[in-house]
Amino acid sequence: MKRVYDMVIIGGGPGGYTAALYAVRAGLSAVVLEKLSAGGQMALTSQIDNYPGFPEGVDGFTLAEQMQQGAERFGAVSELAEVYSVDLHADPKVIETDEGTFYGRTVVIATGAGPRELGIPGEKELTGRGVNYCAHCDGMFYKGKTVVVVGGGNSAAADAMYLARLCEKVIVVHRRDTLRATKIYHDPLMKAENVEFRWNSTVSRLLSDGKVNGVVLADVHTGEETAIDCDGVFVSIGRKPATDLVAGQLELDKGGYIVADESTKTSIPGVFAVGDVRTKALRQIVTAVADGAAAAHAAEQYLAEK
Ligand code: NAP
Repeated sequence: MKRVYDMVIIGGGPGGYTAALYAVRAGLSAVVLEKLSAGGQMALTSQIDNYPGFPEGVDGFTLAEQMQQGAERFGAVSELAEVYSVDLHADPKVIETDEGTFYGRTVVIATGAGPRELGIPGEKELTGRGVNYCAHCDGMFYKGKTVVVVGGGNSAAADAMYLARLCEKVIVVHRRDTLRATKIYHDPLMKAENVEFRWNSTVSRLLSDGKVNGVVLADVHTGEETAIDCDGVFVSIGRKPATDLVAGQLELDKGGYIVADESTKTSIPGVFAVGDVRTKALRQIVTAVADGAAAAHAAEQYLAEK
């Protein structure tokens, strides 16, 4: 049986499930395709304090489940399916998954972003053996140990603070001479007795005996290299958009994000991009949910005009 929906949403994060909620409440049929579980990056965050309506904060997994249930209450369908190709020019649009083919009169791309990698030799092989990309997921394995955090943005600062509570020592390696992170992080990090900084430095090599036991730092000005011992490395240098599926079909910007403005309309009519995967100034849960609502509205208009 051919499964044709008014809206196929690829990605079950906050943007995806908000698009689903608004679509089904507008009388459209909608399916959310998610490969693991609802929530995307949000589900990996143990405490969210900047999503309004939760005075004590909320854990990301719970918030994700509640967003999913909210959309399903009005008839949205969730499918655990990994998408491996799309034809966004077809009519209806075609989405091939490991659970078969889905067809959408409109498609919402809500695939989010994944961790940016350092791109140094051995990084892939040592992932899970000392190289990590999620402090909240893997920090507990380094209790009482020494870790390096690479990066100087809000994520690196938040990761360093979290790890400082678990680890004996946290060494922050940043390629500038000051953090880019917002001021709220500076004082607590500078004051933490077990946090050290290596400024103007990048990690040029990983040292290992099967798992990471140190890193080599390179001075960005002189190139001088210094080896330091550590038990693990947390790479926290930003995120890269998950746009491999749509590259070659949708217009992307220099950073690989899908070009779409506040309307969420992409370069192909009937295809919308929401959340972290689209060009935007601020990538947060609140901006992702706003995109979801905008996408459903734009999809409704598109279908009505069609
Ligand atoms: P980000 O703000 O883009 O910062 C990335 C950091 O990694 C920068 O300091 C950058 O250095 C460094 N970097 C990038 N590529 C590198 C490389 N190849 N080698 C070494 N260093 C590299 O990314 P983010 O910290 O993940 O934050 C992403 C977004 O989420 C931001 O909008 C942020 O505000 C938001 N966020 C907010 C919170 C919060 O508390 N509200 C928490 C986490 C994230 P340069 O400074 O030299 O470019």
